[in-house]
Amino acid sequence: MTPRELIHQTASAFRDAGIPDPDYDASLLLANLLHRPPLSLRLDSDTALQNDVIEAYCVLCARRLGREPLQYILREAPFMGAMLRVDPRVLIPRPETELLCEWALAEMENIDHPRVLDLCCGSGCIGLSIRKARPDAEVFLSDISPDALDVATMNARELGLRVVCTAGDLFTGVPGQKFHLIISNPPYIPSAECSMLQEEVLREPRLALDGGTDGLVFYRRICGEAPDHLYPGGMLIMELGDGEAIPVKQLMLDAGFIDPVIRQDLCGRERMILGRVS
Ligand code: GLN
Repeated sequence: MTPRELIHQTASAFRDAGIPDPDYDASLLLANLLHRPPLSLRLDSDTALQNDVIEAYCVLCARRLGREPLQYILREAPFMGAMLRVDPRVLIPRPETELLCEWALAEMENIDHPRVLDLCCGSGCIGLSIRKARPDAEVFLSDISPDALDVATMNARELGLRVVCTAGDLFTGVPGQKFHLIISNPPYIPSAECSMLQEEVLREPRLALDGGTDGLVFYRRICGEAPDHLYPGGMLIMELGDGEAIPVKQLMLDAGFIDPVIRQDLCGRERMILGRVS
């Protein structure tokens, strides 16, 4: 069997099972096994695949058919031009979070040697991307989950980026420390909605998703505590869940942030917010 045939056959099984991107997933799983680009495999109708390759591929495909997220099977996910290690101990980095990082980097342009805190760092995608783009930055990554911190630490090591990884419940890992920028993609899904998510998302850590009864528990705590950890003029920037922009803006105003600005993602959803202290 050739790669083209195998991918075609697998993609149709994936499609029947309701997997959202069947061709993409079928070709990426084979690319990962053979260390070849997915597109060239989709076109390859010459190579005869060895049986052991086909068998190994079938094992991966069975996992995907069981709705395990592609990134957990591949054990990696791309983010801001880097490849990060991911596994079920951390949330899979999303493309909309790249927009959050780009916004933060643009706002930090005029700050030399910025001190940055990535709260609820998970895989470390946000803080590590900032450190990569700004080698002069001193970046702290914090998460309550020791498992997540292990993944973030491994990513920092693999990418050769020097950051401080610290375990803690929000700011408890950085007592008395101040920053120019606090950035976070906190858990923001209302608890009652957590069990109704797409099957793949249900495989992600609940701790990274569940934002409490109204989804706003972490925003409330972050907004309340962040001003004590910001230098004058310092910024708080956060990703937002659906319908959370207005209530979070109010939380920021109540906590003394000046003129919080909301931005949309590529789908036109209000997705992130940035505010400054005086
Ligand atoms: N900061 C990580 C991300 O954006 C993890 C977020 C989380 O665990 N809520 O993917």
